[in-house]
This record gives sequence, C-alpha cells and structure tokens, in this order.
Amino acid sequence: MKIILLGPPGAGKGTQAKSISNKYSIPHISTGDIFRKNISEKTPLGIEAKSYIDKGQLVPDKLTIDIVQDRLEHEDCKNGFLLDGYPRTVSQAEALKNFLNEKGEKLDTALLIDVQKEFIIDRMTGRRVCPDCGASYHVRFNPTKVEGKCDICGSVVIQRADDTESTVKDRLDVYETQTQPLIEYYKNQGLLSTVDGTQSIDDVFKDICGVLGAINSDNN
Ligand code: ADP
Ligand code: ADP
Ligand code: ZN
Repeated sequence: MKIILLGPPGAGKGTQAKSISNKYSIPHISTGDIFRKNISEKTPLGIEAKSYIDKGQLVPDKLTIDIVQDRLEHEDCKNGFLLDGYPRTVSQAEALKNFLNEKGEKLDTALLIDVQKEFIIDRMTGRRVCPDCGASYHVRFNPTKVEGKCDICGSVVIQRADDTESTVKDRLDVYETQTQPLIEYYKNQGLLSTVDGTQSIDDVFKDICGVLGAINSDNN
C-alpha cells in the first residue's frame, strides 16, 4: 500500500499513522519527525529547517522533496509506505507523482482525516509527544498511562515548541493556503478518501481500516 495522509495540523495523522503502519507493515514516514531529529542532532538540515518550523512556516519545497525521495529509495519502502505530513504543497505532490511514475508506480490513496478548525487549538495545545519514538499523546484526550512518560518507550514526553496557540494559528493559515488545495488535487485524480477525524481515536482507526481494506481488495 502506498498511502499519504492529509489533514490539518492536529487532525490525528501521527496518531493514526502508528496504527496503520503496524497493521499494514509499511514504514511510517513523517517529514516533521525527520526535521525534528535533524534539529536535535544540529545537522545543517536541522539548522535550516528550524528557522521555518519555529515560525510555523513550511520548509522550502526543494529541501523537503529531496529528503523524502531519498527516504523512499530505502529498501523498506519496496512494498509501500505511509507518508504523514507530505506532500504539503502542490509542487511536492507533483514531485511525488513524477517520482512514482518513473518507477511505474502510483499512490493507492490520499486519506484525508477531516477535522474542522474549531477542534484544532485544543488538540494542539494539549498535545505531548515522545522525543524518542514520536508517539503523540494528549493531556485530556489520550493521556499517557504513567503521567509524563511515553507508554511505548518510557521517555519523558514533551510539549513541542511549535505547539503554542499563536504558532498553531500561523500553521492553520499555512495549511489553508498551501495544503488544503491538495484535497481538490487528489479528488480530481480519483484518489481521495475521507474519514471523520472528530470521532474517538479508535473509531477513526476503524473507519480507516474500512477504507483501506476496500482499496486493498480492489487491488488484489
Ligand atoms: P497530527 O499528526 O495530524 O498533527 P496528532 O496525531 O499529533 O496530529 O494529534 C494531535 C493531538 O490530538 C494529539 O494530542 C493527539 O493525542 C490528539 N488526538 C488525535 N486524534 C484524536 C481524536 N480522534 N480525538 C481526540 N484527540 C485526538
Ligand atoms: P503537524 O503534524 O503538527 O502538522 P508536522 O510534525 O507534520 O506537524 O510538521 C511540523 C513542521 O515541520 C511544519 O509546521 C513545517 O514547518 C515542517 N514540515 C513538515 N512537513 C513538511 C513538508 N512536507 N513541507 C514543508 N514543511 C514541512
Ligand atoms: Zn516513546
């Protein structure tokens, strides 16, 4: 399965990606996680990316496209992949399409986790993430079992520097102008599927499995 996840910041892409990746045995590739790892290791890429991320802006396309293409060349992507947070612009989407075309491949679906703007500030300001394994929690909606510690790896969970109310507002503006057009873009290609992301985490996952199950059986 070759899947991309669409949806505003806070839609639940990262949360659902972990479960999808386990169920379908495909790597979860999050451009945000890649950038954050580079930032913590102070690589040249991390230093450049940080200046955009801190302001809630997108990292330039050229940089982002190259990183994703390198990642997709890895052996573990042979049987598919789950992209979370990429593409975020029409240029990135075109680059991905061309990259796959050259290999005679195409996406199975662009899965939109649909959540209206009103939910986003609460979700983002209450988010806590694990800096080591990338797991995403919420102080009210999805708390860790032991307070402050990741359920999966035990590391201390943190609040992301870009999850403040004012940066989240900027990120929502960026989403609306630059990323939202991708919904129409994939709809026009017959690749869009949509789930209601305002349900509980478990119910969203059930709907996703329904959508992906149907696509998988069409392919076989
Ligand atoms: P994204 O990767 O799309 O930015 P996350 O998966 O990190 O979103 O989720 C954003 C926040 O909302 C996290 O704190 C997460 O625990 C919480 N969350 C995710 N899905 C749901 C849901 N269905 N209901 C309530 N909160 C959710
Ligand atoms: P969220 O899931 O909360 O929307 P991400 O972790 O996906 O956030 O991304 C965090 C930040 O990393 C974005 O606000 C942006 O600055 C940068 N980023 C991530 N993916 C991309 C991308 N595909 N293109 C440009 N910038 C990106
Ligand atoms: Zn962890």
